[in-house]
Amino acid sequence: MQLNRIVLKNYRNYDNQSLDLPAGAAILAGENAQGKTNLLEAVFLLTGSRSWRAARRGDLVSFGRDRARIEADVFSRGRDFHMELDLPQTGRMQAAVNGIKQKRQGDLAEIFRCVLFSPEDLYLIREGPAARRRFLDAALCQLRPRYGVALAEYAKLLEHKSKILKMQEENPSMLSALPEFTARMNQYGAAVIRYRAFYARRLAEEAAKIQQAVSGCGERLEIQYRTVSAVEDPEASERQIFEWLTEHAKSHERAELQSRQCLTGPHKDDLEITVNGAAARGFASQGQTRTAALALKFAEREILKDDCGEYPVMLLDDVLSELDPRRQEYLIQQTQGGQVIITCCEREGRLRQLDAASFLVENGAVRPEN
Ligand code: ATP
Ligand code: MG
Repeated sequence: MQLNRIVLKNYRNYDNQSLDLPAGAAILAGENAQGKTNLLEAVFLLTGSRSWRAARRGDLVSFGRDRARIEADVFSRGRDFHMELDLPQTGRMQAAVNGIKQKRQGDLAEIFRCVLFSPEDLYLIREGPAARRRFLDAALCQLRPRYGVALAEYAKLLEHKSKILKMQEENPSMLSALPEFTARMNQYGAAVIRYRAFYARRLAEEAAKIQQAVSGCGERLEIQYRTVSAVEDPEASERQIFEWLTEHAKSHERAELQSRQCLTGPHKDDLEITVNGAAARGFASQGQTRTAALALKFAEREILKDDCGEYPVMLLDDVLSELDPRRQEYLIQQTQGGQVIITCCEREGRLRQLDAASFLVENGAVRPEN
């Protein structure tokens, strides 16, 4: 998978910028607040996923403009694609591939995929369960667009049901709709759980190999998917999971009314991560948790490669300077198998050894350095 060119118009702090990228590594260097992360964010949007940092889509449009555009030439699955994203200040994003409008944003991930690794990901292991769910969801939405659909439906239902529970005194007539909401949540929830369970198993296999290689001392990384306790086997059929969820929901009905909250469901899921048998969140050293974060991200890349036969584009946002030489070395070696775009404040240390095209990012403009 290869991003050959990207063009940004009225996007964040870019007026009109075209950038040709090489097949291997590209380094984007520049001072703070010049537009390095903005550019990686634009590349990431080509996967059809939402930005990891924009609260609203309209935030992506340059101040004072009413729409942004991103265009890209991509080589994927042995063919060339021209991708166009039209991002209005308000309203839906429109996407077209080779001039044909795409109905679902998930379709973009069939053509272009990438893995983003940014400094916040280094805290993936230490953070609460929500950070790990975000990681799972982002990875799965690219891998399986149907997952994104089920997840979005589940999230919508959860929001409605939570409102009904919260407003039960002010709006008691809504309570009669609760069983219907619960049933539909269980239906989409069963799909979400099953996808997550399969993904977590693949992730565990790949990440364990990487942890062992990077740690240099055979550290054992284990990942277990944790979901609703009544789900005896999260890889069972959707029908079976739905039945377990339904039973479980019945036993929680009263507690949910009393607490005015949705108490159970995959919105509480987590990945339990251990290093050498001890819970990483509480016991692993700083170095071990960083290695584990790196292992998760590179496992995500391997899984995408297994799925479509080519490596996704790797986006490394300011992450190298946060890592020690051993982990930097691993990261640089690994990424040589595919295209990688690296941002940094200055090209230093190990980055000098990398055979890469260099670009300077300055005030919303990118130009080649060599
Ligand atoms: P750092 O090294 O600090 O991470 P960076 O080069 O990655 O810096 P970016 O996050 O890419 O910086 O760019 C930040 C700049 O983009 C800020 O100056 C911000 O004001 C500007 N910016 C963000 N959104 C918009 C927008 N919608 N319109 C115009 N400018 C924007
Ligand atoms: Mg940045």
